[in-house]
Amino acid sequence: MSHIRDIHHVQKSRVTMEGAGVRLKRAFGEVHPKLDPFLLLDAFGSDNPEDYLAGFPWHPHRGIETITYMLKGRVKHEDSLGNAGVIETGDVQWMTAGSGIVHQEMPEKAKGMMVGFQLWANLPSSHKMMGPRYRDVKKDDIPTVIINKNVEVKIVCGEIDGVKGPVQDIITDPEYLDVSMKPNSKFTHSITYGKNAFAYIFEGEGMFSPKTTKIFSKDDLVVYEDGDEVEILTSDNPVRFLLVSGKPIGESVAWGGPIVMNTDEEIRTAFAEYRNGTFLKHEQKED
Ligand code: MN
Repeated sequence: MSHIRDIHHVQKSRVTMEGAGVRLKRAFGEVHPKLDPFLLLDAFGSDNPEDYLAGFPWHPHRGIETITYMLKGRVKHEDSLGNAGVIETGDVQWMTAGSGIVHQEMPEKAKGMMVGFQLWANLPSSHKMMGPRYRDVKKDDIPTVIINKNVEVKIVCGEIDGVKGPVQDIITDPEYLDVSMKPNSKFTHSITYGKNAFAYIFEGEGMFSPKTTKIFSKDDLVVYEDGDEVEILTSDNPVRFLLVSGKPIGESVAWGGPIVMNTDEEIRTAFAEYRNGTFLKHEQKED
């Protein structure tokens, strides 16, 4: 018999300033056994360019992956691997920092709303110093599955009804879905027992487990208990949310801003290397 996941806890995102002065909503940014391997989820959403134009100028990352999903608007990026490009509306950038990358992420001025998300996934100690890599996923390469005419799921990473998302072979075996549900609909999705899972609601409202009649809405982060599937229901209103799951790593976490390792010593080493110019372990492109 399948075991539908209960809700462990729900928290509202909080307004936070990050980067050079970007106003965003932080759904979470902490080490929690029910969120492992994920460390942070930020939501960008503003119709005022002053909230985001300062951007995230040159900064390092080590030991994690960052997943940026833009729903509306554009973010220019450049990095120490020599990559430069624009994450356009509907695109995803899956960046594995591994041993280290230095990059900048600069939102461009948009008419109307700028909407996007950045998720941080931790890497296990065995992969923290792996070679850095980027996967740029274009909007058109993200498949959409429609279930019973009522539920539309964009699959960034993971699989539904045999349809696989474009991002594969990720260390913590994550799933990243963008789910839109019409009113009076139901979505059931299997998430293997032992994985951690959460939903972040960014439009509308719904019931996120049949074990409670409570309704959760925009800006709520729903963190699940263990089980082997989730069931979400809507009544009078539609809902749209990110549904994310992954295998917990279960290691100690030492967190120094954009660098996440296992020990404080590794954090000190990383910052010392950043200061003395030996941070980057990958080949540098010649100018
Ligand atoms: Mn970054």
